[in-house]
Amino acid sequence: MAFQSLRISRFVISVRSPIRQCHHRARALVSQMFQPTGALPKGAKQSEIVCKSHKLMLEHGLIRQSSPGIYHLLPLALRALEKLIRVIDEEMQTIGGQKLNMPCLTTAELWKETDRWTTTGSELFKLKDRHDVEYCLGPTHEEAVTHLVASQGHISQRQLPIKLYQITRKFRDEIRPRFGLLRGREFYMKDMYTFDIDEERAMETYHSVCEAYTRFLQRLGLNFVKVVADTGVIGGSMSHEFHLPADTGEDVLMFCLKCGHGANKETIDSEDAHCPNCGPSTKLESRQGIEVGHAFYLGTKYSKVFNVDYLDKNNKSRLTQMGCYGLGVTRILAAAIEVLSTDDEVRWPKLIAPYQIIIIPPKKGSKEERGQQIAEELYDSIVGKIPSLKNEILLDDRDHMTIGRRMKDAKTLGYPFVVVVGKKALQSDRLFEMCSVNTGVTSFESQDALLEIFSGIQTV
Ligand SMILES: [Zn+2]
Repeated sequence: MAFQSLRISRFVISVRSPIRQCHHRARALVSQMFQPTGALPKGAKQSEIVCKSHKLMLEHGLIRQSSPGIYHLLPLALRALEKLIRVIDEEMQTIGGQKLNMPCLTTAELWKETDRWTTTGSELFKLKDRHDVEYCLGPTHEEAVTHLVASQGHISQRQLPIKLYQITRKFRDEIRPRFGLLRGREFYMKDMYTFDIDEERAMETYHSVCEAYTRFLQRLGLNFVKVVADTGVIGGSMSHEFHLPADTGEDVLMFCLKCGHGANKETIDSEDAHCPNCGPSTKLESRQGIEVGHAFYLGTKYSKVFNVDYLDKNNKSRLTQMGCYGLGVTRILAAAIEVLSTDDEVRWPKLIAPYQIIIIPPKKGSKEERGQQIAEELYDSIVGKIPSLKNEILLDDRDHMTIGRRMKDAKTLGYPFVVVVGKKALQSDRLFEMCSVNTGVTSFESQDALLEIFSGIQTV
């Protein structure tokens, strides 16, 4: 008897529990989303939140301020950020980048060797450990990476070029943090550092990284400009910036409308600047931009200090030629929202939207209530047939709310596809109302047609 009942209970467990798990774990439900909305930072007034992405991200539960210029990235924003990171990883690895992770705490000793402990000034977050040893929370890692590469001794020529990058938290004690994630004190940055045998190869690397940045921004569908830039505190002899044109941008860019030449205004001396390509009669026009990427040719500025060298064929020591390349990762997320959104609706680059599809079942107690099961079946059918969408679908199960209200929420959050299970889904031809949020087009589609459309969704 005991043996038999054991078998029976095993049978019950093995058959039922996977199904239960499937229902409770697999479907992402809006009712369970941690998304505190509408909160302004302590002491802030609505009128002080002047920038669209900042306002939208706070109002709709994407970020929450922890202290000035420092934010919690809430689940929806983090999903988008992690996708953004995957796109960056793909592009950096396409050009031979090797990902590593360097400590945020870097010793003052290294910064003192390049003199930047004092020249970077009060923007460095400085601290001391219990033994009175000084550190800073790194805003950038030229010293750390150069010291690291030097620690292996002479580099073998075969190993070059070396392209090391990381995507980590960076820190900058901004005098006036503002615009949310656009200018924070703690942020994510992708920083790549490259080492080449000579100037010519270093230039090839420089161009390949700029091309990778171009592909990256194109994949996100973002309109951008590349301009000549100042080398500033990083140093070096050549520099370009990538900007998203936007009225809220803090940089002023000067453009030639004839040939497309562009430069950051910081690099131009005179008020009525003209184009270096088209001559003195062609004046440059100004427009504002948000800086999202930066490339620097560093030469031997850092490799000289820490002696990063290789032995040439005559066994002579030669310094490597360096470059460094940044992408402001959290800034890109906010800047994309800034340039793509309307005043009250969030829009994402489609590829990195937190979820690709949201399904809205009928309201509880309505005539269409039995459509709730159809919505769940549709969800499971998409997941079952299109594996790439397994974690890309949300079910708005807040069935105490009208379809219209949930539709408005879905559009506000900018999920690319909204599917409504309404009256027509209950009729014999079972049609679903589908709204493509980015185009604004609404249509009625059969389940097969929906699957066909969704199978074309690009994910990362
Ligand atoms: Zn020109």
